[in-house]
Amino acid sequence: MSSLSPALINLFYLISVSLFIVGLQRLSSPKTASSGNLIAAMGMGIGILIALLMPISSGDNNYGVIAIALFFGAAIGYVIAGRVLMTQMPEMVSLFNGLGGACALFISIAELLNFHEHNSIDPATYLTTLLALLIGSVAFTGSLVAYGKLAGSVKDSWKLPKANIFNMALLLALISAVIYQTQYPTSIELVYIIMLFALTYGVTFVLNVGGADMPVIISILNALTGVSAALAGVMYDNKIMLLAGILVGSSGAILTLLMCRAMNRSLISVLAGGFGGTSVSAVQVGDKMVKEVSVMDASIMLRYSQNVVIVPGYGMAVAQAQKICKELEDQLEQVAVNVRYAIHPVAGRMPGHMNVLLAEANVDYSKLLDLEEANKFLKDTDVTIVVGANDVVNPSALDDPGSPIYGMPILEILQGKNVIVLKRGMSSGYSGIENPLFFNEKTKMLFGDAKNSLISLLEELKVISD
Ligand code: NDP
Repeated sequence: MSSLSPALINLFYLISVSLFIVGLQRLSSPKTASSGNLIAAMGMGIGILIALLMPISSGDNNYGVIAIALFFGAAIGYVIAGRVLMTQMPEMVSLFNGLGGACALFISIAELLNFHEHNSIDPATYLTTLLALLIGSVAFTGSLVAYGKLAGSVKDSWKLPKANIFNMALLLALISAVIYQTQYPTSIELVYIIMLFALTYGVTFVLNVGGADMPVIISILNALTGVSAALAGVMYDNKIMLLAGILVGSSGAILTLLMCRAMNRSLISVLAGGFGGTSVSAVQVGDKMVKEVSVMDASIMLRYSQNVVIVPGYGMAVAQAQKICKELEDQLEQVAVNVRYAIHPVAGRMPGHMNVLLAEANVDYSKLLDLEEANKFLKDTDVTIVVGANDVVNPSALDDPGSPIYGMPILEILQGKNVIVLKRGMSSGYSGIENPLFFNEKTKMLFGDAKNSLISLLEELKVISD
């Protein structure tokens, strides 16, 4: 392959970055999201191609090794992405985010070894590389722990004793070591220690964060990966890497703020841990009665309603019930029932999870209400159907100061007249706390897999609507 001139490289960079920005902009609406994804992927493709064609000073392009890495990387990514179930998407996103951090880690360590070997240490470049190593390592192991938490294999109870003090001490040690190593880069040993400490910090920092706060931590890890990629861009003087890193880093930072707002939590209190575990004021299932409803009674309630709100949650994703929700909506609208969907920003297991699933089922975007709109609409709602949501409708957040989720904004579905909850049993949501909603006098439970329950409701509705 021949090398390109600097002017041509810059032109392609500009095209590539423009494609990223247009792609990102299109990702903001479900209607344009898949074309946005494709456009951004084209931008990435051009970026990779330009990196391959860039002239390098040593003259050794290593095309053979690069081709092998590209082949295996692309093949593994293709197979995994094809096989992953929709319910495993959040875990996969976390894993891919971790791989971005791992990339920054490996290229930084290679560059640092290079600097030491050739004794060519420029303080600014050296510091940038050390920071890329540090942040990439934290993002790598942090994302692996987040992956384990989302998959349920890492438990919320796995916390270090005095975790806050340990994490703070580790962070201070890391910052001091980076400053020292930048000033006195005499040996490589401290670099390895920084890497080990940063990998450890990624684990302990994410382990410390409680269940319901996971959306915030996922966004932070996303931002960290972006920052480490941007630092690697500075390191290699590669504009596309720098700009792509800045885009990922800044969107991760904005998402972090939005998620904090959605949970009504400050970033500091999230990092200090807190949510999750079992509530001290948990409601004993054995002490209280829940009311069950039959499919027929539930469908009669729905058929003679004016306004119905569907509240999707993680259980809808597990049951893959989004398409049946849409069919139920169509059936109800045929008999002049007004249907809306109430979307909590942290429902499901990844930001925008419910929007993605409902878009896949062709639910009209105008029918989705955000938290604020939904809480207004819910006042005039005859029946609210909760489809596998739990934490995002837990009224303890409003009225139980002893609850770990007290203060988190929720969908206030008890403002409506009736609530029907579709879930399989009485298990708690992701945060592990009980939900008094299920024992409320307005609530009736329809037990079973959400998809099966919705299919039964739909069949019954068709019968009574004829
Ligand atoms: P929850 O995790 O609180 O609850 C989901 C409920 O779905 C469970 O109670 C479960 O009960 C039920 N369920 C599971 N499978 C099925 C099924 N097949 N059919 C019917 N019901 C089912 O979900 P929410 O969406 O309300 O809340 C999301 C939680 O996840 C929040 O705590 C949030 O902080 C956290 N989180 C969110 C992330 C994000 O970015 N959005 C990332 C990480 C965590 P049962 O087993 O009895 O059926």
